[in-house]
Amino acid sequence: MVDDCLFCKIVQGTIPCHKVFDDEHTLAFLDIRPLTRGHTLVIPKAHDVRFEDLSSEAAQRLMAVVHRVLPAVGRAVGASGSTLAINNGREGGQEVPHVHVHVIPRTAGDGGGPIHGLFAHPGAAGAQDLAKLAEIVRAELRVARRG
Ligand code: AMP
Repeated sequence: MVDDCLFCKIVQGTIPCHKVFDDEHTLAFLDIRPLTRGHTLVIPKAHDVRFEDLSSEAAQRLMAVVHRVLPAVGRAVGASGSTLAINNGREGGQEVPHVHVHVIPRTAGDGGGPIHGLFAHPGAAGAQDLAKLAEIVRAELRVARRG
């Protein structure tokens, strides 16, 4: 637990929340400024900042709860789709530095768009560039697996 972390305080119960799921490792609660009705945050109870800071087990536990909560929230608000998002790190738009997955129920005409709408001027990539980059990432994954 980190003393000045908002979500650690929610986990400890010193800041209230509208809880929808609670187990040993994971908490899910309604976002206080919902983008759509039912907007829910799913968080690990232990403090980590970025998704990649989680152990593989912790990441799997978190996503397993997202997998359970998503359809329940969707049914509760009558949504026909959803957007899942992690603002990961300051540059990724993260305001609360404690890992959280946004579960955002979506309905036709809700005024939102696809995540591609985040970027006004998406770049173009040639096949050669993509092939080279994919090779670099595969090499990074091999290094990570050995490490
Ligand atoms: P992010 O920008 O990804 O860090 O998102 C942080 C989210 O936390 C925002 O959607 C906020 O509306 C939400 N939030 C902040 N404080 C609270 C709170 N006390 N209870 C519930 N949600 C909160």
